[in-house]
Amino acid sequence: MTLSMLAHRDDVGLKDGLLLVGGQWRASSDGATWTHRHPATHEEIGSFAVAGVEDVDAAVKAARKAFDEGTWPRATVSERVRVLHKFSGLLREHSTELTKLLALDNGVPISFGNIYAASVTVAADVFDHHAGWIDKAGGETFPGYQGGDKLAMTFREPIGVVAAILPWNAPFLLFAQKLGPALAAGCTVVLKPSEFATFAALRMVELLSEAGLPEGVVNVVTGPGNPTGEALITHPLVDKISFTGSRAVGKRIVEASAGTLKRVSMELGGKSPALVFPGAEVALAAATAMGTVTMGLSGQACIAQTRALVHRDCYDEFLAVAQGVAGYMTYGDPFDPAVLASPLINEKQLDRVLGYIQKGQEEGARLVMGGTRMQGEYSNGNFVAPALFADVENSMTIAQEEIFGPVLAVVPFSDEDEAIRLANDTEYGLGAGVFTKDAKQAFRVAKRLRAGTIGINGFQVEPHLPFGGFQQSGLGREGGRSAYEAYTELKTVMMPLSEAMM
Ligand code: NAD
Repeated sequence: MTLSMLAHRDDVGLKDGLLLVGGQWRASSDGATWTHRHPATHEEIGSFAVAGVEDVDAAVKAARKAFDEGTWPRATVSERVRVLHKFSGLLREHSTELTKLLALDNGVPISFGNIYAASVTVAADVFDHHAGWIDKAGGETFPGYQGGDKLAMTFREPIGVVAAILPWNAPFLLFAQKLGPALAAGCTVVLKPSEFATFAALRMVELLSEAGLPEGVVNVVTGPGNPTGEALITHPLVDKISFTGSRAVGKRIVEASAGTLKRVSMELGGKSPALVFPGAEVALAAATAMGTVTMGLSGQACIAQTRALVHRDCYDEFLAVAQGVAGYMTYGDPFDPAVLASPLINEKQLDRVLGYIQKGQEEGARLVMGGTRMQGEYSNGNFVAPALFADVENSMTIAQEEIFGPVLAVVPFSDEDEAIRLANDTEYGLGAGVFTKDAKQAFRVAKRLRAGTIGINGFQVEPHLPFGGFQQSGLGREGGRSAYEAYTELKTVMMPLSEAMM
């Protein structure tokens, strides 16, 4: 049977994508477009406008005008809360449609798109969470430091025009993690979805208008990093860049933002370890680690636990369960509820992942299973059979670099100190898993790990919990109060109350 996405596309009624500038949907000024090919079949699914420098300039100026003169930054608490809650309700109502659009965008199976952390529901919950900060995240009042009758206070004000740049792998959650706090704080936005996941994001923006968001508050520029992304990150009227994506582009954004000292928050890549101690539930640990590099996104997830550090006492058991979990994965039509894992997003990523698998073998790691491109009915797509590497040394390339594919590297260790040393021997620091039945050991190890989020015998992204990275995994946190505050500037206002101090 030959896989095809075209009937699904027609069923969803996918229409070509346009830019949104100051409330008007329109083509790019030079007529440029991008044709999206599905990662499972390479079929042409649809096309969308590519915003050039002129279009990005118009979108940023529309956001600037909406910020400087429009109603949203000056709206009452109740107006903003109402719009954001209406939007979260619309997201829930359109959940099935959006999940199908995502499957057409990036090939993530519907089965996985319905799992909480990847779902439309989590995006709706993130908006509700941030709507809750609008009437709570106020300023403070202070006494005079050197005496005197003085009133001093702080206010939180919206930071201004936000450029929100999304990756392709988790657009529901990341749309919400950026636009939720930005809109709650009263900012205006220019959104750039990934060129590999545009259609679901465009539909979410239509729903924002339906929820009553005023024109010009959210503008959309679609297209690739160059020219669209570059024009956005170098635009002088952008106050803040909120980015999720690769470390390489993150570094470019820091460089490009220096000219006007833009505020920057970024969620970048990871090489997160799973530490598995003697006596732990080894099956749970192996299912979690192998699950994060196969299930749903086939390891194309920032938080995947791609480096399993396993005590020698349970090493063989871990490898056996990991093999079993990989063997359980099913591939094919993402609209089939029995399909559990996706293809790689594009041919460039396919070549990159196969290159890392080859490098792992050349450097002496033992390939236990998988690691080849899948054939037969899968041969038109970017499907790779999950690769399990044993006897990996932490210095090897496959243990150090983010592969972003279905590759699990298993490194043996002998004691707790060695495990922690290996876990922290990385340039990243996004997350880690600790698998043990000893609660004291769990917290002792969690405290010593240099990573932003630690899951003890389990892990879940939640709207109200800070999420982000140490070291080169990012700057700042998404989720929770600190995320809301990152879209505000703190202003101090003081006034002496006695004549003598005037
Ligand atoms: P990417 O860096 O290639 O692209 C991300 C976005 O940046 C896309 O919209 C792309 O068009 C844009 N872009 C590319 N070049 C640009 C430029 N010069 N200027 C401005 N924008 C530019 O990443 P990707 O392949 O879409 O996503 C995978 C990466 O994202 C992985 O490294 C993954 O770990 C990371 N990620 C991190 C998190 C997190 O929360 N930490 C979540 C998801 C993904």
